[in-house]
Amino acid sequence: MTHIPVLTKEVLQYLDPKENENFIDCTVGQGGHTKLILEKNAPDGKVLGIDLDPDQINNCKSIIKDSRLILVNDSYANIKEIVDVTKLGEVNGVLLDLGMSSWQLEGTNKGFSFQKDEELDMRYNQAQTLTAKIIVNEYSKEEIEKILEEYGEEKFAKQIARKITEERQVKKIESTLQLVEIIKRAMPTKFQYGKIHCATRTFQALRIAVNDELNNLEKVLPIIISVLSSGGRAVIISFHSLEDRIVKNFLKNKEGVIKILTKKPIIAEDGEVKMNPRSRSAKLRAFIKI
Ligand code: SAH
Repeated sequence: MTHIPVLTKEVLQYLDPKENENFIDCTVGQGGHTKLILEKNAPDGKVLGIDLDPDQINNCKSIIKDSRLILVNDSYANIKEIVDVTKLGEVNGVLLDLGMSSWQLEGTNKGFSFQKDEELDMRYNQAQTLTAKIIVNEYSKEEIEKILEEYGEEKFAKQIARKITEERQVKKIESTLQLVEIIKRAMPTKFQYGKIHCATRTFQALRIAVNDELNNLEKVLPIIISVLSSGGRAVIISFHSLEDRIVKNFLKNKEGVIKILTKKPIIAEDGEVKMNPRSRSAKLRAFIKI
């Protein structure tokens, strides 16, 4: 399953890569965006590609063979140290394309999808100990409710948390489809088969909690500004309102140090959404460091 990069035209427009400039792709994935940047910053510009998932780094290695690409398996929260260690030099642009890739959703058996029966894991990096299984089987009812409410904006958070804690006393919750059944039974009938799958918000919330996604985002935003050289550009693509709110508020507070290039977030055109449904929820914001 190849991941189709979102908003490629817009990413290139705002990052505006030029000959010999250096870039950081904080979430390199399968290198969809990185490949396009490398075409523009030849002959000597570099791209530092980072991903928390070691399998994505391997994917990218086999897809892009280019000595100007430096790949590092780490969290983007550590880009400052990584830039120093890799001696990248001046940083002219940074890209942050949040969330998970279609490849992780469909092809890794890590329990990200509610459509297939897999073990409830949801870690991008297996070196970490916290998994979705630990959250649903060991966290208190109140903690689970809070996660579903805050990270999923799930209006049946209370009912789902209650059902999870009841069911796990009968049988440990091990698999995605087992959890989907529990979520269904916790909801009023008319919401069980709605337009959006009833497990969507719970799965999103668990993934965010397992990988501490919102905290990582809050951590990296000031670091992006600090690693950029003056005149450097940054593009941030988010996929749900919680992420976009964090980005929007952060940028607003930094005006003066940065110049915001997108008054409103840029969204995908109809043609792109038809071709790649994942782009439907993408919101792009960009700025330039003064
Ligand atoms: N732009 C990429 C797709 C990125 S998908 C492409 O075109 O192929 C988002 C990626 O971010 C995933 O590969 C995921 O593993 C990675 N990721 C999630 N959290 C991360 C973190 N804290 N640090 C680095 N990478 C992270």
